[in-house]
Amino acid sequence: MKDLPNVFGSMVFNDKVMKERLPKETYNALKKTMDNGKSLDPSIANVVANAMKDWAIEKGVTHFTHWFQPMTGITAEKHDSFISPTKDGGVIMEFSGKELVKGEPDASSFPSGGLRATFEARGYTAWDPTSYAFIKDDTLCIPTVFCSYGGEALDKKTPLMRSMQVINKQALRILRLFGNTTATRVTTTVGPEQEYFLVDKKLYEQREDLVLCGRTLFGAKAPKGQEMEDHYFGTIKPKVAAFMKELDEELWKLGILAKTEHNEVAPAQHELAPIFGNTNVATDHNQLTMEMMKKIAQRHGLECLLHEKPFAGVNGSGKHNNWSISTDTGVNLLEPGDSPSENAQFLLFLSAVIKAVDEYQDLLRASVASAGNDHRLGANEAPPAIISIFLGDELTDILESIEKGTAYNKKEQVVMKVGVHTLPRFPRDSTDRNRTSPFAFTGNKFEFRMLGSSLSISGPNFVLNTIVAEELSQFADILENSEDFTGDLNKLIKKTIKEHKRIIFNGNNYSDEWVEEAKKRGLLNLTSTVDALPYFISDKNIQLFTKHKIFTAAEMHSRYEILMENYCKVLNIEALTMADMVKKQILPAVLKYEDLLSESALRKQKLAGAPSAELETELLKKLSSLSACLYKKTAALEQALVDVKSFGDIKEEADFYKDHVFAAMQETRAVADELETMVGEEYWPYPTYDKLLFHVG
Ligand code: ADP
Ligand code: MG
Repeated sequence: MKDLPNVFGSMVFNDKVMKERLPKETYNALKKTMDNGKSLDPSIANVVANAMKDWAIEKGVTHFTHWFQPMTGITAEKHDSFISPTKDGGVIMEFSGKELVKGEPDASSFPSGGLRATFEARGYTAWDPTSYAFIKDDTLCIPTVFCSYGGEALDKKTPLMRSMQVINKQALRILRLFGNTTATRVTTTVGPEQEYFLVDKKLYEQREDLVLCGRTLFGAKAPKGQEMEDHYFGTIKPKVAAFMKELDEELWKLGILAKTEHNEVAPAQHELAPIFGNTNVATDHNQLTMEMMKKIAQRHGLECLLHEKPFAGVNGSGKHNNWSISTDTGVNLLEPGDSPSENAQFLLFLSAVIKAVDEYQDLLRASVASAGNDHRLGANEAPPAIISIFLGDELTDILESIEKGTAYNKKEQVVMKVGVHTLPRFPRDSTDRNRTSPFAFTGNKFEFRMLGSSLSISGPNFVLNTIVAEELSQFADILENSEDFTGDLNKLIKKTIKEHKRIIFNGNNYSDEWVEEAKKRGLLNLTSTVDALPYFISDKNIQLFTKHKIFTAAEMHSRYEILMENYCKVLNIEALTMADMVKKQILPAVLKYEDLLSESALRKQKLAGAPSAELETELLKKLSSLSACLYKKTAALEQALVDVKSFGDIKEEADFYKDHVFAAMQETRAVADELETMVGEEYWPYPTYDKLLFHVG
């Protein structure tokens, strides 16, 4: 695109536009709010709103919306027009500071986990000035948070923003200890790599399971899968290339730095990686990216699948959350430095992450739990459900040398000392070889690889921000009172490595030996959502979040309820869809094919010499017995759905879904998939895996 510099961010009310369009004082006041989280003066809001409206109207916009991220996991908007009637019967276009700052969507049908009693079902949205307003579908979108009137968070953004404040505060305390007086703000940064599938829209529409559940509930393996490894980084098909081009352009207009797009491991699977940014903004951008992917696919006769596991037996989709911590002066705090002091600081931040991940494995695991992701984590696919950290051999050796006082450089017998030695520069390549680790250090950031493709990145990031902030606060408490800073720093790092090194694992995370080894180390292995989520409301974790004012205990319980309910709802819809497909599509198709076979057998009997109908008889026998079996399995599945209604407790209900409903679904599927391999293609009621995966145009 020739005009890229002008197109990039053209639909965003960004810094450049603000500078151009706002009076200097207003701009400075707004900037202060954005950079330092200062609250905004109402008189300023009016000026900003007016400038925003004029800018938007010039771009053909007539409506505005407060854009927010409720607990449904997708974004929500309620459109209002700028139009306001005048006394003489005309209209003017208006947008006040009040409308910019606060909105009242009818929120009673968003999940609240019992937080809002029905008599007070209202919630409100409040502008988040740290994320730029933008134009989408001819509508001015104001990024907002969503709260109840009691002030309880009902969305995914509020806890994330709170956690950004907390890590800012604690990281600054540490920086001051190292004599840094210039940094005024610390933020975390994220670059989420988004995986997705593209399938033909017409084929997609023929599958009730894809339309209703986002994944195939049935489907025999295609003769060819991903074993040839010919899709990964292979040439991109023209239709897909056209989709990617338009996607890039639309994202650029929204100021999203989409950078690399390539094919992934599975056929029809692709990935988009943006350039990283502030976690708060990156979260908005990832939501927008997913929305744009779905919308733009439609324009190309495609359907974008964001489900974690659209096809059994084929790689699922994840989202790698690359995370780091940076100062406003541009220093990446997870990057080894050039001087002994910088390295001591790096080692302290690294130790904080190691301690945090070890002590809060449960929270990290719970933060990525969902019915869809259960098909990946701990199932036959990467990464495993056990949290561990990959540091690479070099950094691990250095930590060991520090901890034990043994030689790091064997030749010269050098023992690494904190605050004395400069770390060797490890080439970035050597740090990223292990693709099996769920939480890998990749030279200057950590890559959390357990996220499912459809997940909002808010959850894992407010957990990361908070747990690391907690450790930093503990470290700061110790070091602020120290009389021998370097000595105490040394001790602290040594102690942390010693107590938490069990979380470090550089080997193959997919191996069975690791499962055994992790158990010996006392690491958690939570293989399902139902096992992981209860940890979210353990005493330890409630204490953590309430201490840092990320959540109240009530907010945490409500989130737990919502997530558990969501798990049950997903399984319920999947099970109902399965039963529906069996009864309305699969069994009728098999019966039709059986008819063909019986007619053929009868015809043969009447022919001279009565040729053998052995084939027909054989097939008929098998089909009859399999379809009878499918009918029984489906009846059992439906019975399980009746039984599950009797539980009052959400945990019991979810357990039942996992142990009985899901098991019944697996059994039903197995029989249907076997039938699929035996019934004539033109009889089978929906497109099979080979069509979906290899006919993308
Ligand atoms: P790869 O070699 O796998 O492409 P990169 O380092 O180029 O890895 O980037 C992977 C993702 O990590 C990109 O989205 C990138 O923007 C992001 N990333 C790079 N540095 C940081 C950082 N300091 N903080 C957060 N994300 C980062
Ligand atoms: Mg990656």
